[in-house]
Amino acid sequence: MGLLEGKKALIFGVANDHSIAWGIARAFHEHGAQLAFSYASEALERRVRPLAEQVGSSFVEQCNVSDDGQIEALFEKVRDHFGSFDILIHAIAFARREELNGRFVDTSRDGFALALDISAYSLVALTRAALPLLNPGASILTLTYYGSEKVIPHYNVMGVAKAALEACVRYLAADLGPQQIRVNAISAGPIRTLAASGVAGFRSLQRNFQEMTPLRRNIMIDDVGNTAVWLCSDLAAAVTGDIIYVDAGYNIVGMPEPQPKE
Ligand code: NAD
Repeated sequence: MGLLEGKKALIFGVANDHSIAWGIARAFHEHGAQLAFSYASEALERRVRPLAEQVGSSFVEQCNVSDDGQIEALFEKVRDHFGSFDILIHAIAFARREELNGRFVDTSRDGFALALDISAYSLVALTRAALPLLNPGASILTLTYYGSEKVIPHYNVMGVAKAALEACVRYLAADLGPQQIRVNAISAGPIRTLAASGVAGFRSLQRNFQEMTPLRRNIMIDDVGNTAVWLCSDLAAAVTGDIIYVDAGYNIVGMPEPQPKE
């Protein structure tokens, strides 16, 4: 029997079949969850709808999370479709390409505000809109990256946005805990997705990652999906406000293994 049998999940952040949100959707489907999807812009619908059909979902609705009116309209549709639900996946981030290249000190005021709004504040906005529809025992999950804690070349303003996002996870978890609603984040290792392709030097970052991790491997979207199943299932009923690493152990390493002298 699936770990998410009888649970209903709303998933934000599928752009294509490389998206981390798609890895989560596939794993949720395998574990019996009923799924609904929201995508950012009209152009993405033709990619997201066929994917949703693959996992038996007919709810595919647009919502740009920087627009409060679109969030409100989306949750009205969710209420009509689901009534109440159990899982909210927030797999959304955005920064302008020019902010993910060069020096952090050159980040513009509006580039900073945009990245923080879409990548961190949107978790707060979506959580507030979802609250009246969330069942006790519900789980909210977002995606973060190690660049929130340590300097990663070119991650720049997104590192600051992820630090804010992780703080939002803790404050939301404290607010919603008494209602038995959990809020957590998965900190995933680098995965080649549309969003990742905006970070300058991503290929070399991934190569370096594989050499340095204790498990000597890269991360796949299914790795994130499988951990998300556990975290959103009742098996993790006592886990909230936490950042769970799915990074093959990268975050514990202080120095790469010295190479043997020739
Ligand atoms: P992705 O490009 O597939 O997903 C990013 C999603 O954000 C897209 O679906 C995009 O449409 C959505 N989005 C952007 N602006 C939006 C807006 N205004 N309204 C609604 N949706 C919007 O890339 P991904 O790597 O799967 O990213 C998912 C999450 O995982 C992000 O938060 C990302 O920072 C995080 N993450 C990624 C990696 C990685 O290496 N790929 C590592 C750790 C964490």
